[in-house]
Amino acid sequence: RLYNEVQELKGNIRVYCRIRPYLSEENKKQSTIYHIGENGELILANPTKQGKDGQRVFNFNKVFGPTATQEEVFLDTQPLIQSILDGYNVCIFAYGQTGSGKTYTMTGPDSSSETDWGVNYQALNDLFQISRTRRETFIYEVGVQMVEVYNEQVRDLLANDSTQKRYPLIGESSLEFFLCQIVFLSFHTLGIMTTSLPNGLAVPDASMHTVQSTLDVLELMKIGQTNRAVSATSLNERSSRSHSILTVHVQGMDLKTGATLRGSLHLVDLAGSERVERSEVIGERLKEAQHINKSLSALGDVIFGLSQKNTHVPYRNSKLTQVLQSSLGGGHAKTIMFVHINPDVGSYSETLSTLKFAERVS
Ligand code: ADP
Ligand code: MG
Repeated sequence: RLYNEVQELKGNIRVYCRIRPYLSEENKKQSTIYHIGENGELILANPTKQGKDGQRVFNFNKVFGPTATQEEVFLDTQPLIQSILDGYNVCIFAYGQTGSGKTYTMTGPDSSSETDWGVNYQALNDLFQISRTRRETFIYEVGVQMVEVYNEQVRDLLANDSTQKRYPLIGESSLEFFLCQIVFLSFHTLGIMTTSLPNGLAVPDASMHTVQSTLDVLELMKIGQTNRAVSATSLNERSSRSHSILTVHVQGMDLKTGATLRGSLHLVDLAGSERVERSEVIGERLKEAQHINKSLSALGDVIFGLSQKNTHVPYRNSKLTQVLQSSLGGGHAKTIMFVHINPDVGSYSETLSTLKFAERVS
């Protein structure tokens, strides 16, 4: 049954829209520019154009309104987490302007209690829980990497940490890998095994940390967060100008047959998508903004290419898409994009451009 569920999602790129609530009482007095239609569609109203003419309708897999809980937002993602243990590569992205709730969705609020856990923690928790239920038949090893892409450069956010441990990478000419390929191939030709090996790893140079529990990962993520490049912008003091990628590699061995499976999960908190006026920023800021624009549009092009089943997918146009290349395409890759928007009238033009991006990739 699980396999059928996963099969149905095959090749599917899912796009979810989440609308952040107003953050203070005062803001609530502002006019709201969206509403959710009867069929779950998102209707955006242009504040300068009254009536139907000023409306645009967007359809996504689902639209989460401002009262949606973390748990509700995670619910549709949950089945994909299980598929990672069956050898799938899952990428989950958070897209939106700075302050729209990307980090809230991925990580949760600062003082995170279990009910406020973001997709990251919920996913990892599930991953460990499901792997425990398979203890009798499978043995799993879980490794974590965390990198950021800043100004088109990849930086290891967990370098020099004492928990670092060498972890065998796929594609390495190790005997173990060679043997499991043979086992896999013989199963494959017999038609016994329904899943196949994933395509490979994203960031082979970054340090890999073996983890045993969600807690281990939480600790690593804290270290990674402090190492992340942040700088002040007018929108949000600690707005993030880099993409952060948390990668979870899972390797499972079937205790009966010795066959191994590898799956991966990439959790990507993207840099703010806001367009900056050339006149407003200079120097370093301008360079950052240009790199962010470039990589976000490259990501859009790749996902669009995949959704169109194009033969040429332009992975090489940015570091972000290069890093994720092996996990974004192919039969064993699944992508979820959470696009975030603000509710207020002042964000109208950013919201429109965010929704246009999302519409193109969905
Ligand atoms: P981003 O990562 O896109 O810059 P954040 O996730 O930091 O945005 O969110 C900005 C602010 O809004 C934070 O204070 C955050 O706690 C709050 N926030 C975002 N989304 C929600 C939500 N769904 N419910 C409650 N507060 C939210
Ligand atoms: Mg953030």
